[in-house]
Amino acid sequence: MNQSVANQKQTAFPEAAWHTQSVEMTMDLLGTSSLGLADTEVLNRQKTYGPNRLTPPKRRGALIRFLLQFHNMLIYVLLVSATITGIMGHLVDTGVILGVVVINAIIGYLQEGKAESALNAIRNMLSEHATVIRNGEREIILSESLVPGDVVVIASGDKVPADVRIIESRNLRVDESALTGESVPVEKSTAPVATEASLGDRTCLAFSGSLVSYGFATCVVVATGDRSEIGRIGNMLANVEQLSTPLLNQVADFGRKLTYAILAFSVFTFVIGSVWRGYAMKDMFMMAVALAVAAIPEGLPALMTITLALGVQRMARQNAIVRRLPSVETLGSVTVICSDKTGTLTKNEMTVQMAVTADKVFSVSGVGYAPEGGFRLNEENVSHHNHPELMEISRAALLCNDARLHQKDERWVLDGDPTEGALLSMALKAGIDPIAEHGALPRSDVIPFESEYRFMATLHHDHHGAGIIYVKGAPERLLDMCSMQNSTNGEQPLDRPYWEQRIQEAAGAGQRTLAIAAGKIDSSRHQLQFSDVEQNLTLLALFGIIDPPREEAIAAVQKCHAAGINVKMITGDHAETARVIGERLGIGNGKPALIGSQLEQMDDRELSEVVRNVDVFARASPEHKLRLVQALQANGDITAMTGDGVNDAPALKRADVGLAMGLKGTEAAKEASEIVLADDNFATIASAVEEGRTIYDNLKKSILFILPTNGGESLIVIAAIIFDLILPITSVQILWINMATSVTLGIALGFETSEGDVMQRPPRASDDPLLSAFLGWRILFVSILMMLGALGLFLWELDRGSSVESARTIAVSVVIVAEIFYLFSCRHLYRSSLSIEGIFGNRFVLGAIGTLIVMQLLFTYAPFMQNLFGSTALNAGQWLEVVGVGALIFLATEAEKAMQRWRLGRKPQLRQTP
Ligand code: ADP
Ligand code: MG
Repeated sequence: MNQSVANQKQTAFPEAAWHTQSVEMTMDLLGTSSLGLADTEVLNRQKTYGPNRLTPPKRRGALIRFLLQFHNMLIYVLLVSATITGIMGHLVDTGVILGVVVINAIIGYLQEGKAESALNAIRNMLSEHATVIRNGEREIILSESLVPGDVVVIASGDKVPADVRIIESRNLRVDESALTGESVPVEKSTAPVATEASLGDRTCLAFSGSLVSYGFATCVVVATGDRSEIGRIGNMLANVEQLSTPLLNQVADFGRKLTYAILAFSVFTFVIGSVWRGYAMKDMFMMAVALAVAAIPEGLPALMTITLALGVQRMARQNAIVRRLPSVETLGSVTVICSDKTGTLTKNEMTVQMAVTADKVFSVSGVGYAPEGGFRLNEENVSHHNHPELMEISRAALLCNDARLHQKDERWVLDGDPTEGALLSMALKAGIDPIAEHGALPRSDVIPFESEYRFMATLHHDHHGAGIIYVKGAPERLLDMCSMQNSTNGEQPLDRPYWEQRIQEAAGAGQRTLAIAAGKIDSSRHQLQFSDVEQNLTLLALFGIIDPPREEAIAAVQKCHAAGINVKMITGDHAETARVIGERLGIGNGKPALIGSQLEQMDDRELSEVVRNVDVFARASPEHKLRLVQALQANGDITAMTGDGVNDAPALKRADVGLAMGLKGTEAAKEASEIVLADDNFATIASAVEEGRTIYDNLKKSILFILPTNGGESLIVIAAIIFDLILPITSVQILWINMATSVTLGIALGFETSEGDVMQRPPRASDDPLLSAFLGWRILFVSILMMLGALGLFLWELDRGSSVESARTIAVSVVIVAEIFYLFSCRHLYRSSLSIEGIFGNRFVLGAIGTLIVMQLLFTYAPFMQNLFGSTALNAGQWLEVVGVGALIFLATEAEKAMQRWRLGRKPQLRQTP
């Protein structure tokens, strides 16, 4: 079909009516078949329909975003004062003020752009995939490249990648809340519905963006991108995330209130000064402007945003992809991490080590998925020729299995579930021929594995039509389904105690246990039901599978413990396996695990009590996870929880920080979570917590750095007003200081890496105010130091007979130099910065300082700067004074830190809230 035909079909057939068409008609109209489209056709259609992607909501244009930078109280104040100084004839001042306003806008614009693109890049790391059938073969592609007519397969946990017409389905249920707001999943099937059916009733269609909550289906794509239902209602708008968190809002709010207070105070000063004390209006006006400019922390919100964005970027580099920004703050106060075991705490590289039949215990050699190794019985190598049961259990393991192994550059690569990979590899070690076996017993149906019921069943028919069922799953589960067992002497009744003993042995060695059974079924039956596998099966074998702990997870668990964070492990595995593996990881001290069925018998109160002391939860299913989160939260714990399946979504949503697996996680789990772990690794959680705490520290450091500058400057102006001095620093000079420092020093702290002890402190209390008494005190302390230094040297210079220009230049230099020193001090909240690391540890700090020194030299010596700012050259002696005062201020701030350390050292509980 060429382009024009495609267009014709589209116009000839209104999209709204797909739900009224039969499956055959739909396929016909879309020019496709159950084998899917051919590659050339896909390319054609991609040209016609474009990528299957929603057009992102229009960003505000560059000009608007630039102009918005002027929408800020301080800028209004500055614009008014520029006008008035202009009217008063101070044209240079007017020019400087306007210049600063524009430069500030440019800087703000660039910073905002940088922060936004950093976050966008992170969001793009979460691209979505779809399973499609093209040229008759299944492949996994980016959802973006789907076209109408593509045949896709969707299964529980997937996000429906486009609007699709269902052509074949099995218990398909879809959660369409994103589209219709209806939270109960809708049952879907293939039958067409009436023309007037509303969106929610079009049960033969599934819509882009909804989540498959149960079952699976094969479908054909009918509409992509903006032509899909979700594209039409423009729902994307709702998903645009603000570049903000509660904390940042709090700071912005604080900044706004402060601004109003300062404006009121400036006006008040102006009125009192000019009306009551009788100063010249003009002088008082300049004073009031200087005060407003000095005190308003205009750079703070932007700085906080940048700090946050830089931190989130660092987290992404360490494989923790933040989906919801506020979680960055929550991470710092997490007190409990509940983690899945398999694949997160363990390597998920499984190997069958033991195969047990009714009368033999084989050990299996080899590591990894490579089918290299063999079977041993009583320390001797054995072959399947002498032990026919090996062939039988291998056949079952091969057929009741969806994994594939293939060789890639000498290595064996697994496609599918690791547990099944291990079984497949074992079957190959027994010398079984997969192609022959699959040919002899083709599969007619399957009940896929779900962690809820912990087994998988397949139905096969041989060439005479006889049906056979294979079931594999958790041994306790299978023992209940079996009445017989297979032995060398043929079938005999199940010897339950024998098997229980073997299970206990394997689990005690930390092995994952799995049993396999076979059953018969009437040859007419081609669909499997739960009732077919619930009884009368014959147990074939029990397998012990090792899954070694990840080395880095052991270290990460220790790190979390040191950081006052409890680690709990949740697994579907056997209680004993869980206990042993937990102990190896440092979780649970080898105490017995709590199993899912015990948990079910407890009420909420009991459970809340129990979770205080139990760290390992076994044979747990997703709904147990939800109850666990609730129980922990009832105890006041801030809980992080991992998950991957569609059924984990409620627990992930409920947790304070939901962590979804990036590799094996379903779309449903990702949607429900705050953070996605790109590598599924527990160690990543620990580093995310560390980074979360660091970001919080850095936000605090930024505040601690910025506010004393404003504080010091305004104290200088206030002192001048009170003591009737000429202004030690003019308003344009104040503008200079603020601008020069905010583009250089301010940003450097956002690049600060974790302080050595972030993971040795207990979690931050979640109701801890950011602007704590400690912060307030230090801001005041440093403000006073800056004021004393600058004002003192200013007066001394005047006293020695220097010109006002030179005394002012010195005052400005003192503030700048003091800030340079203070920046070093701010690198550590408590720890001394008087060390090699303290001085040289952050190259961004050094770079920023270098730039600022160059700028300040220009300010002092360049003639045009002297004209603009009324500055003048300084001599070596004067520089010495300036640097000396700066150094004194530095020593005083370090002394204050030493005192804080001493105080905290005496009261360790205070360390909790720096
Ligand atoms: P977890 O992911 O916490 O290890 P699972 O829910 O995956 O727990 O597995 C629980 C139990 O279910 C395993 O101990 C094993 O006996 C069984 N099992 C795991 N995977 C499969 C599978 N693909 N097919 C059949 N049974 C399985
Ligand atoms: Mg699993």
